[in-house]
Amino acid sequence: MSSTGGNTSNDTPWLFGAPSAVPDEDAEGESGAGATTGAPDTPSAPDAGALPKQTASGSQPEAAVPGDARRGTGSASPAGESAPANTSASPPASDAKPAGKPAGRKARATGKAAGRAAGKAGAAGLSPMMQQYHRAKKDAGDALLFFRMGDFYELFHEDAKVAARVLGITLTARSKGEAAIPMAGVPVKAYKGYLQTLIKRGHRVAICDQVQDPAAAKGLVERRVTRIVTAGTVFEDDLLERGASNFLLAVAPAGEQLGLAWIEISTGAFRLCALPAARLADEVSRLDPAEVLLPESLLNGESSLVDAVRRATPAPLVPGPEWTFDRHNATEALLAGLGVASLQGFGLEHDHPAVPAAGAVLAYALHNQRGEAIPVSAIGLHDPDARAGLDRATRSCLEILSTQRSGQREGSLLSVMDATGTAMGARLLRDWLVAPLIDTDAINRRQGAVAELVSRSDVHAALNDLLDGLPDIERVASRLLAGRGSPRDLAGLRTGLRAVPALAQALAACAAPPLLEAAARLVPQPELLALLERALAEPPAATLVDGGVIADGWNPPLDELRALRTNGADAIARFQAEESARHRIPGLKVGFNRVFGYYIEISHAQAAQAGGVPESYTRKQTLTSAERYITPELKQLEASILTAEERGRSLEAQLFGELRAQAAAQGEAVRELAREIARVDVLAGFASVARDRGWTRPAVDDGDAIDIKDGRHPVLDALLPAGQFVPNDVLLDHDSARLVLITGPNMAGKSTYIRQVALLVLLAQVGSFVPASEAHIGVVDRIFTRVGAADDLSGGQSTFMVEMTETASILNGASKRSLVILDEVGRGTSTWDGLSLAWAISEYLYRKLGARTLFATHYHELVALAEEFPAVRNVNVSVREWGDDIAFLHKIVPGGTDRSYGLHVARLAGLPAPVIERARRILGDLEQRSPDLRPGSKETVAGGESPEPCQESLFPRPAAAILHELSELEPDLISPMDALLLLREYCQRLETPGEP
Ligand code: ADP
Ligand code: MG
Repeated sequence: MSSTGGNTSNDTPWLFGAPSAVPDEDAEGESGAGATTGAPDTPSAPDAGALPKQTASGSQPEAAVPGDARRGTGSASPAGESAPANTSASPPASDAKPAGKPAGRKARATGKAAGRAAGKAGAAGLSPMMQQYHRAKKDAGDALLFFRMGDFYELFHEDAKVAARVLGITLTARSKGEAAIPMAGVPVKAYKGYLQTLIKRGHRVAICDQVQDPAAAKGLVERRVTRIVTAGTVFEDDLLERGASNFLLAVAPAGEQLGLAWIEISTGAFRLCALPAARLADEVSRLDPAEVLLPESLLNGESSLVDAVRRATPAPLVPGPEWTFDRHNATEALLAGLGVASLQGFGLEHDHPAVPAAGAVLAYALHNQRGEAIPVSAIGLHDPDARAGLDRATRSCLEILSTQRSGQREGSLLSVMDATGTAMGARLLRDWLVAPLIDTDAINRRQGAVAELVSRSDVHAALNDLLDGLPDIERVASRLLAGRGSPRDLAGLRTGLRAVPALAQALAACAAPPLLEAAARLVPQPELLALLERALAEPPAATLVDGGVIADGWNPPLDELRALRTNGADAIARFQAEESARHRIPGLKVGFNRVFGYYIEISHAQAAQAGGVPESYTRKQTLTSAERYITPELKQLEASILTAEERGRSLEAQLFGELRAQAAAQGEAVRELAREIARVDVLAGFASVARDRGWTRPAVDDGDAIDIKDGRHPVLDALLPAGQFVPNDVLLDHDSARLVLITGPNMAGKSTYIRQVALLVLLAQVGSFVPASEAHIGVVDRIFTRVGAADDLSGGQSTFMVEMTETASILNGASKRSLVILDEVGRGTSTWDGLSLAWAISEYLYRKLGARTLFATHYHELVALAEEFPAVRNVNVSVREWGDDIAFLHKIVPGGTDRSYGLHVARLAGLPAPVIERARRILGDLEQRSPDLRPGSKETVAGGESPEPCQESLFPRPAAAILHELSELEPDLISPMDALLLLREYCQRLETPGEP
């Protein structure tokens, strides 16, 4: 053991496992570290001893970075460990004993140090530093360990390999030969970027810092894991997306139900809810968490719950120790974490199904913060029934937050809707857009506020001015509450607080309840503001290192130190003039050099003229023509000048700490302000969009009609030049237009139309105005969309499997109040399969579920459904056709279409003329032979009786059979000869159609 030891609090039972979403790291994480005292660090090959002389850059093993070409010699020496040797202290022999200043180390290179290290490697077989490393690694569990060494965070063993691969940094080795340990490092100055990349990829990173002033260290500097950074537990603005929440979610089964709890550490939001398992995926995808904590046993076993979570989010899943999910422990953790004696103050019974998840998620966050405060102060119940559900497929298909193809925000609904001025508003907007309201009163309240701001442009303009660029005081408050705020954070808080009274005043002029209530809740914080105005520099320096954080005039001693620093030169000049006059030596000069500091210089001639130098002068140096002296007074002056800066800095740090603590004391109040500002910001943003784009207020009620006149697709309409988007009407209701089938050629605008309807319903239920001349929306409880497989990018499963899985979730989840949007469902399989499925799905939706449904399909055969069911409507997207040419009019008109215009579209797309011609002839042939495609029986799946199996084929019988066989074929698995034989057989069968 090293004489200083390290943090020995490593026998914690808290070993959160590796994120399972990064499967390839599971194994590596295991083998990587642990406290394996294996080969790399055997006594016969201690790391320092193995260093070749010429590459050893220091006498202590920590400084040696052989083979690491990235750094210069200077930065290779760990500055943090460079405490001057205290030769008289003679601690126990230690290879970690700093031998001198960095510059001197190189000279005193290896011989002795290597010998010492070899001798000292001891029973454990590890140098003290590597012992320290392994202790930290054990403490870090499966997180990658960033081990602070001087100017770098180093990673060793498997951690190094992972980091090198993920970050693209050089993998080097510590020591050589058999004792070589893989090593990689990132500079401390720039580590945040690397950290971000790692956590984005689902890794967790333990930061092991030097927790002792190197100057005070006897031997090895003490290091400890100070924090584990994970995707779900970050505070720093530069690691977070400005306009998006960053949820850490925990899910745990609780009897029949599931308990969910989530924390947004950067804002302090803490919510929980209970759900039936069937609703899990919706809720998880709505939250879009950064990280999901699950009970270890679940995650390690087979679990449908885990599968559901995995499907709903790409976030890493982390196993949480079982005991943290234990109801008793979880309750204790919550009470302690929230600092309360009972949860009932939060309207929460202790037997709520989500208490275990809530306790576990808080415990996990605390564990990662290593006991630092977690800025949650309240917990609230979330009511999933109050929101219209949108599953992951729906969110992605409607491109609410990002586009499907590129995943970019640009081109999404969010990009059109985001006219917010603040990051708080931008985050809330995202949350609102994926959680439409169901309660018409709540919707109408929001609409009322938007309407008032649209009509009162004076108030609206004033609000926009105030909100625009207002700092993110929500996250500032959280950092302050966690004891982490920076000088810039306090400046942001100051700017935010300055705007509050004016915001409240502008809102007080309104009548709409949400605005008036906001005016009342925006309580200014005059004392805190006054404090910040006086105490904080304007603007403060970015970091304390530079000084310049505390305002002049706030603290007299600081002012004095600053004056001393800047007036140092004056003081010296004054001293020189005074001395010269007092002793009548006109040539007396004060100079400075590094060895003696300040000195008085008097030439021999001057000294002789003055009859000697004053007795109080002490001679320091003799030059050929002059002598140099010092006096106690001069040394005192020197000390105060040289230390003024240092003292100023530490005084400033202390004052800043006090200021931050005072601001943190108001953290909760600031959060309240932030949340209020966010709401106002979103509503004002809605008003901006409505006004700028000429949107109207939809009438929202609990009826079943969705009746939109001249509706436009909010995003496409914004992207196209004004007036180019062709508006369309829609009517959906239960009794006359329950299922609307949209047929028409490719590129006609079917997909656009049905998404537009879904988006307008969503916007209406979010409280926004909508792009239409008139809209009447009967509230929907869920919106489902499903797109045929060919467009889908989902990996893993076959696309058709995905298509059917998601269709299943619609058929199992939709109700009479739902809105279902189907786009080319059935396309992912053969024509005949696809058509049959599309038909049966439509029937089921219509008869059994009664959901309002829009179905865009190229199966124009489906139009026949209208003959069987009264509330099926056919519409098509009109095209103008002349000869072989068509033009898309994008106008929805009543009636079905009996053609799919595939050949026209192919022609437009530039297929060679002979191909088109040949296809035309084949089509003619097929159409002649093809039977009537409608199912022969009126019995349906929804009716409970088994439907007549449809035997006919779109293709002549042998062709259909062959096609089917072909689709089942695995080309990779058959030999060329077999393929040839098969081919011959197919040809024969086609020639003799009688025998399929
Ligand atoms: P479909 O689903 O019928 O193949 P899409 O909905 O994908 O067709 O639309 C094809 C293209 O037509 C869109 O990318 C868009 O540029 C244009 N479009 C669709 N609807 C309209 C409209 N109402 N007004 C103007 N352009 C439209
Ligand atoms: Mg389409």
